[in-house]
Formats: sequence, C-alpha cells, structure tokens
Amino acid sequence: MEYREFVEVYENLGKTTKRLEKVDILAEFLERIKKKGEKEWVYLLSGRVFPNYEPREFGISRQLAIKAIAFSFGINEADVIKRFKKIGDLGEIAEEFALRKKQMPLVKGKLSVGKVFDNLRKITEIEGKGAVDRKLDLVKELLGYASGREAKYIVRTLLSDLRIGVADGVLRDAIAKAFLKNEERASEKIEEAYDLAVDWAIVFDAASKGVKELEEIEIVPGKPMNVMLAIKAKDIAEGFEICGGGKVGIEIKYDGFRMLINKTKDGEISLFTRRLENVTRQFPDVVDVVKRHVKGESFILDSEVVGYDAKTKKYKPFEAISQRIKRKYEIEELEKKLPVEVNIFDILYYNGKSVMKESFRERRKIVEKIVDSVEFKIKVAEQIVTDREEEAMKFYDRALKVGEEGIMIKNLNAEYKPGRRVGYMAKLKPETKDFDLVIVGAEYGTGKRGGLLTSYILACDDEGRLVEVGKVSSGLKEKESEGMTFEEMTKLLKPLIIEEKGNVVKVKPKIVVSVTYQNIQKSPSYSSGYALRFPRITRYRPDKSIEEITSLDEVEREAKKERK
Ligand code: AMP
Repeated sequence: MEYREFVEVYENLGKTTKRLEKVDILAEFLERIKKKGEKEWVYLLSGRVFPNYEPREFGISRQLAIKAIAFSFGINEADVIKRFKKIGDLGEIAEEFALRKKQMPLVKGKLSVGKVFDNLRKITEIEGKGAVDRKLDLVKELLGYASGREAKYIVRTLLSDLRIGVADGVLRDAIAKAFLKNEERASEKIEEAYDLAVDWAIVFDAASKGVKELEEIEIVPGKPMNVMLAIKAKDIAEGFEICGGGKVGIEIKYDGFRMLINKTKDGEISLFTRRLENVTRQFPDVVDVVKRHVKGESFILDSEVVGYDAKTKKYKPFEAISQRIKRKYEIEELEKKLPVEVNIFDILYYNGKSVMKESFRERRKIVEKIVDSVEFKIKVAEQIVTDREEEAMKFYDRALKVGEEGIMIKNLNAEYKPGRRVGYMAKLKPETKDFDLVIVGAEYGTGKRGGLLTSYILACDDEGRLVEVGKVSSGLKEKESEGMTFEEMTKLLKPLIIEEKGNVVKVKPKIVVSVTYQNIQKSPSYSSGYALRFPRITRYRPDKSIEEITSLDEVEREAKKERK
C-alpha cells in the first residue's frame, strides 16, 4: 500500500470538523487496510507506531525537524526558522519546500506505508552514541522520497502533532461502523474489547474478523489495562443507591495512586499505573513484597499504593509519592526515604483465568485468601459490609478523622468493568469544588518570573474535543519545599509547545491538574462558553490521563447548581 493513500485520508480528516464525517472517512479506510494492509498500521491513524501505552517516542525535537527539512530540500536552516516563526507548522513548511524542490519523477510518490512505518519504528529504537545523526538519516531518507503532502504528514507524525482530530472515540466508532454493521451496541462492544486489550491493532484485527473474535479478547497478566472507575456520590444515601442498595462493601479511600500488580505464570511481576505506565523498575520494593506475601501462580491485583514517612510512620499525601513514579534513577535511595504500603482491594485474574465476571464478593474472598497482610508493606483494604447507612456514616467519619480522603462504596454483586465509570463503585469525599482539567496553553510571566510559564489555559472535554474553561495562575509555588513550582511546571510544558506567539504558547494537551474555583460564569471568551472564577491549582495529576478529565456536561451541571 502506498503512503499516498494514508495522506489522502489525513487530508480528508483534517478538512472536516464533523465527527460523523470523520467516522465515515475512517471506516471506509479501515476496510481498505483490512484488505491490503497490516493491522499495526492503524497506529498511524493516531500518529503513532505503537499502542498508546508504549512510552517509546520518536525523540525528534523541533530543532531536529528543522535540520532535516533544511537538508532534505536543500535550503538554509535560517530560512526554515523564518518561515516557522510566521506559520508555526513545520509540516506545512516541509510541504512548501518539498514542492519547490525539483525531484526526479522516478522517485516521487513512491513511498510505501511499510517503508514509512519501518523507518518510524527504527527512529524510536535508536539510542546511544550518534543517535541524533542516525535518527536524522532515517528522516532524511523518508523526506527524500516524499511528495509535498507526504512530507507534511511525515514531519507532523514525527512531532506528534498530526492535526487531524482523530481521538480514540472516533477510531472506536469507525471500527464499529466498518466491521460490526448489524450489531447492536457496536461501539460499546469495541470499547469493551479495547479496555481489555488497550491496543487498537488487536481490536481492529479481531473486529475485522467478526464479533466472535472480538468477544474472545481476554486479559493477560503482564500487560497494562484500563481500570474500573468510580462515580462520585454526593452523600452516603446516594452511594448506596448507585451500588444497587442492600448490602454494600465500604472501604477506606486511600490517598495514593492506583496500581495493577501482575504476575505471569512464569513468575514475572510487573506493575502498571492507571495511565498504563509500566512502573516495575521504580518500585522494586513492591515487587519484592508481592513475591513474598501474595500466593498464586498468576494474577492481576488492583490496588492503591500509599507513601509514608519512614521515621514517623505517618501517611503522606499523593504528591510525595508521585516523585517515585517519575524517578528513573537512584531508585534505592528514594525507596528508603519514601517507603510505600500496598492496599489490595480487587482481583481481575487468578491462576490462569479471568475472574472479572465473578461478583465482587467472590473476588474479595480470593484477595483475602492469597494476600498475607504485613503492616506498612501490604494489606487487604479495610472493608465493612453493611446495609445500614448509620454504620456507613460512622466508618466515613472515622476515615476522615484519621486523615483519609474519604470512602469507597462498592456493589458486592457486580462484575469488574475495566475502563468504565459504572455504578459498581462510588466514591465519597467531603464536598470540594474541583475539576480535573488539562493545560492547553500558557503565558510567560514578567519580572522575576520572566522566562517561566506562569499562567495556564485550561480545558475540559466535550465529547472528545477539548474546550477552554479559563486561565489559572495561582496555586503553584516559588519554592520546591512548598509544593509544585512554576519552574517545574515550565519544565513539563516546554517540550510540549506546538505554537508560540508573543508571550503566549499553545501546548500539546498532556498535563492534567486538579483545579478548585470560587464559581463558574458564562463567558464568550472561552470556547466552552464558561469561565472559572478565581481558579487555583491544587494538584498536578500525573496519574490522570486526558481521557479522565472533567466533561463539559459536569461543568454545566455545576454552573446550574450555582444558579439555583
Ligand atoms: P478519584 O481519583 O477521585 O476518581 O477516585 C478514585 C480512585 O480512588 C481510584 O482510582 C483509586 O486510585 C483510589 N482508591 C483509593 N482507595 C480505594 C479503594 N479502597 N478502592 C478503590 N479505589 C480506591
């Protein structure tokens, strides 16, 4: 298959903002890939060459792309930079210069998808001495063969900025439309399969063969997967109601981070966060504790990992332990300074098979059977079973008194539904006005904050599209000892910059923050139609992905509540 065919689809997708049209275009194309392509090529539709959970990146900076463009089309780097300052999209610039260059007609437009895919993958694999030059060679090779449009999308892919508006939801609906034509709940079936496989190539391949194959997708230990999410309850009564009434399980809501603990039948232990990151290397202590204190040939456990002070044995808030997730080196030192306790609250897979369809009551029994609780190392999450609201209330009060975040209320009869905010689990915390939002832009500060990005444009989710809800500049600190600083945030945002105009930058939507506010106003200044008044960042949320941010519906609901 020629890369030209992909490029046509990218162009058509980029031309429309209508979701349904995008789904149509993609559905038709997926059928073509099925006939004459490789399943992995679906990654290219999201500008990738690996499943979403794979952290390997191209590692091509803007500077490097500028070099590659200049070399490939025989122009000065300074000229590329000049154009870039004007139009801000290196893809378009590559197209422009590629068209100007006289190419051999023999070479032009002969780029195959296989070649592009291979070179892109190789680029992610290159490490060590001379890596930059070797990467550059692979890019130059592609650009050498590329037509104008092909050059545009090669460059955009390398910079992870495809600009065609294909989110996972669109891909899901397109696979459903292409291959599950006469099925009811087609999109949901695709989504369910994706939550287990977290890999579009696997889901696309199975769906293209039939519903039966799709339904046969199963979880396997050793791979990341999406976890079950909770619904927010406003009080105990609503928590009971969400969980179907009658007897429910009530547990402490530990303030740490979610971890799926996997053991394969070969005894290999791996740890994943709810953002599908593999953190096995960062937590050798957890691997060790699981080896010693959990029985079972193979399993997948769901847990919350909490940090505590080594000396005082006091639990620490999530921020402290988030350092351990990020740290790739000198792990031992941090392990001593910031020890963790693992609280196991569920099991998804046990001794060779999935137990997700069993009731929570049964799953919990397995957890109790196989986990030996050892204080400050690993334990089964504290739980009471009750149908009485007063008893639940007492448990809640006690949890808050000892400084926990709140409680979880769980349906004992329910199966485990990965990736979903289903009513099998509710969370109850003291009322706070807060949203989880993603940063989509920022502004440089002035004076002593010059050079630092100090105010941030926030967005929520409107069915797969990001819409802005305001700008925040308070909440971050000057000193590291007080919490997240402007400097740290600037470091996180700088590599994500995709456009720069004056002192304002646009960034790739990656960084999620929890934001509290005083009230919500209608506002034409932001694309959501709302603006948060007096917003303040309360937390950086490296544990949350952009799929989990607050929806526009929620913002609207809160705004309405205020007006009542
Ligand atoms: P939130 O992050 O506010 O959406 O709350 C849900 C999160 O609470 C889950 O994703 C877990 O990381 C965490 N959590 C803490 N304790 C528990 C527990 N006992 N059961 C389930 N989730 C828990």
